[in-house]
Amino acid sequence: MKKNDTAAVKITDIGVNGEGIGKVDGYTLFIKDAVIGDTVEAKVMKAKKNYGYARLMKVLSPSPDRVTPRCEFARKCGGCQIQEMSYGRQLAFKEQKVRGNLERIGGFSKELLDRVMEPVLGMEEPFGYRNKAQFPFGTDKQGNPVTGFYAGRTHDIIPNTDCALGAPVNREILETILGFMKKYQIPSYDEKTGNGLIRHVLIRCGSATGEIMVCLVVNGEEIPHADALIDRLAEMPGMTSITLSPNTRRTNVIMGDSFKVLWGQGYITDYIGNIKYQISPLSFYQVNPVQTEKLYSLAMEYADLKGGETVWDLYCGIGTISLFLAQKAGKVYGVEIIPQAIDDARKNAEINGIENAEFFVGKAEEVLPRWYRENEGAEAGLRGEGSRTRADVIVVDPPRKGCDEALLDTIVKMQPEKVVYVSCDPATLARDLKVLCGKGYELEKVRAVDMFPMTVHVETVVLMSRKDK
Ligand code: SAH
Repeated sequence: MKKNDTAAVKITDIGVNGEGIGKVDGYTLFIKDAVIGDTVEAKVMKAKKNYGYARLMKVLSPSPDRVTPRCEFARKCGGCQIQEMSYGRQLAFKEQKVRGNLERIGGFSKELLDRVMEPVLGMEEPFGYRNKAQFPFGTDKQGNPVTGFYAGRTHDIIPNTDCALGAPVNREILETILGFMKKYQIPSYDEKTGNGLIRHVLIRCGSATGEIMVCLVVNGEEIPHADALIDRLAEMPGMTSITLSPNTRRTNVIMGDSFKVLWGQGYITDYIGNIKYQISPLSFYQVNPVQTEKLYSLAMEYADLKGGETVWDLYCGIGTISLFLAQKAGKVYGVEIIPQAIDDARKNAEINGIENAEFFVGKAEEVLPRWYRENEGAEAGLRGEGSRTRADVIVVDPPRKGCDEALLDTIVKMQPEKVVYVSCDPATLARDLKVLCGKGYELEKVRAVDMFPMTVHVETVVLMSRKDK
């Protein structure tokens, strides 16, 4: 097939980005927004030798798994990829994505995976789950300020203040800000020229507390007539923190380096389980609180702590998993590369009265090997119980690129009975599990958790144990 050809295609598979895959006379087409089971009319946009990318022109006969998307912008918007697929099918797709990677990249057998894979943990209500959103501001052709979401792979703003994945309160906040901007002629920032003022608005809601934070990211130090805006926002039930973060750099990075409080306090409070967290505009915090609690509870279940264990939580962020586990462990050490996150982790330990957690700033692949080397010398001959170089449980929760080999090597040397791997990328997960399994560990349990319904992302929690334990 060649560019601009059209054909009827039966969709028989799902690609890693949620796109439909079908064949026409042996030629494979990848078709965004086509659902497995559909027959669609597709137009080839880009043709390679053995495969091509086509655009969905018309659904000729819909799949039983095709549903009407809740959001009218679902196809254009870069936020969701699979809103037109039934939620049950989305979950099956994600579970299969994890399984497929473990088979292909990890080299694990079907029989083993049948035994160790537990059913994917989905949501009862897979919409309105996000506690955080960052809305870009721009200007429409008539010169009015607009806000919404970027269209897929672009910086074109689709005006929409009512995202189906976000908190309902976002809409009122954004409309209030847009109304204020019109009234006082405050311009949106323009990426192309570097002019204008309002760049982004960050909104966060504490799902357990109802507290709301609004942070205005501006190309400057202040907003003219800010009091008029603050008065309106502050009236909203739950409003707790209104801040301004100056960002005058010409960059894609959303937030500035600092923020100042315009009204209320500089943070909101939320709970995951019974642990309390203070969240500032610059802190990392999981965006789906309902699923985060399930994720951490699963990590806790896999760690199966009895009370006296030494636990390492690598890539600990603001110490969320560390503090969760500290409730049942003897001692928890957390390691994280971002110093401000460690400041938050220490503060969160303090406000929860947790005294058995200690945090280190640095790269996990440097901090852990160094700790091992330094303690190894001091303890030659003192292996086993009571040794500081041993760990009972090691938890890792790395970014998409997975763990460094140097880190995996040290984990193996520290001989933890259990390794709990929390992963946001099944491919690097499979690669790392293969390394650990080559060095004395075996796969015990694998469970996918759907942290991001309507998107192709999937989180996985894995339990590995030492073979000779
Ligand atoms: N466990 C936390 C955060 C996980 S996100 C939670 O559930 O909230 C992954 C974290 O790894 C991020 O906070 C990131 O800053 C950190 N990180 C990235 N590379 C790192 C490295 N080489 N060493 C330690 N931490 C790293």
